[in-house]
Amino acid sequence: MQTIKNYINGELIEPIGKTYIDNYNPSIGKVYSLIPDSDERDVELATQAALQAFPKWSITPKGERSAILLKIADLITKNLERLAVAESVDNGKPVSLAKLIDIPRAASNFHFYATGILHYAAESYAMEDTAINYTLRNPVGVAGCISPWNLPLYLFTWKIAPALASGNCVVAKPSEITPMTAYLLSELCIEAGLPKGVLNIVHGYGHKVGAAISAHPKIPLISFTGGTKTGAEIARVAAPMFKKLSLELGGKNPNIIFADCDYENMMKTTLHSSFSNQGQICLCGSRIFVEKSIYEKFKTDFVDRVNKMKVGNPADPDSRLGAVVSKPHMEKVLSYIELAKQEGGTILCGGNQVKVEGEFADGYYIAPTVIEGLTYNCRTNMEEIFGPVVTIMPFETEEEVMMYANSTQYGLASILWTENLTRAHRIANNLHTGIVWINCWLLRDLRTPFGGVKNSGVGREGGFEAFDFFTEPKNVCIKLK
Ligand code: NAD
Repeated sequence: MQTIKNYINGELIEPIGKTYIDNYNPSIGKVYSLIPDSDERDVELATQAALQAFPKWSITPKGERSAILLKIADLITKNLERLAVAESVDNGKPVSLAKLIDIPRAASNFHFYATGILHYAAESYAMEDTAINYTLRNPVGVAGCISPWNLPLYLFTWKIAPALASGNCVVAKPSEITPMTAYLLSELCIEAGLPKGVLNIVHGYGHKVGAAISAHPKIPLISFTGGTKTGAEIARVAAPMFKKLSLELGGKNPNIIFADCDYENMMKTTLHSSFSNQGQICLCGSRIFVEKSIYEKFKTDFVDRVNKMKVGNPADPDSRLGAVVSKPHMEKVLSYIELAKQEGGTILCGGNQVKVEGEFADGYYIAPTVIEGLTYNCRTNMEEIFGPVVTIMPFETEEEVMMYANSTQYGLASILWTENLTRAHRIANNLHTGIVWINCWLLRDLRTPFGGVKNSGVGREGGFEAFDFFTEPKNVCIKLK
């Protein structure tokens, strides 16, 4: 059985406590590797290594930092197949999805920020002939990066790459549910020649490792992606220490479909935005609002297409959905389907665990589920389920659907389908979300600001926003006479 190691001070080492956590392959429901059960002692070791590496890394010329990060990007691309299979085994997602999205995006994250840093500039303000102000943007020091299980390497690298490119050293913690590709990344960092201590990866539980990173007095900055409750706990600890915080949290995104949409394009994309990665993407559109005049047609066509989506072995190229990430998560999603029934919902398709034959019999599979007949403000429509479950609801007017769309505590992303340009711009302006996709979904330009409003988070990632976060601005004012 493979044993994952921590990556501290350039070496792959055992946790100080020498204890391990079982790591499950969700597609077969069995333990297949061991994860270090690290604690605050390992975080301390990692932080000391990062502090030691910082002075040199922070003044290493941008071009040299960039070259090393580009090597890491290349190595991820070279190992695409191996990383995609590892991601699928660890997470349950189809290998085809990991090959198409997760791993290429991890390489792009490094490539994007390795080149982005070469173009990052700070502003200057001239006060006529009295003085000149200019801003220095220095790295903050040791950055704490904590990431979730749904897009493991994709989201892990989305934080680490800009942190390193801008000259910080990093203590990072991947999710204990999906640690494998972060471990493989540590091997690639060694191969790429990343100086020791610049990146440190400490594996283990959130309440031990994550909490120790959040509370560490020498880690002045935390970049976190995960659940809203965890984000609140991190803020409770880190805010009184005046740490810089970026929190990317949960969502309950609306998908608004008007009768004048490009129907076939909408239908194809809505299948993706509902069920990609088993619905475990924070950006999935789980509340589908359909204009009344096409509601019955949409319902028939959508349910028909959902029924044809194959659930099963993630390595089978025909599988559209693999396993959800863990047994507790499967039970949580199934409990929400029960709640939907109690709240008066009708299950139009799915609604159950799927038993896959043979070696996959103990895997955590859920049929893609479509529910109708619920009110916009019931718990099923207000709380994040984070699984292959969507609700569909008719609406008659724009005012009505805007009220529905904006009614949750969340505000991450929204999706809008209409060919009416004026309406599209008006609605985009009035949606309370950080991201609006019009006639598309998950189309990502890495230069754009990424993040949510309300309980979906604080701050923005992406493009120069990330460099702004991972650096501290200092204004220098020079009097000219
Ligand atoms: P989670 O909050 O349970 O865990 C996320 C990370 O935080 C893990 O590494 C975990 O070990 C760690 N953690 C747990 N307790 C901690 C603590 N007390 N202190 C510090 N760290 C702690 O989230 P999850 O279940 O892994 O991921 C699913 C959630 O992530 C969903 O809510 C989803 O919407 C959200 N998400 C958001 C985005 C976004 O960009 N906004 C992207 C992906 C996922």
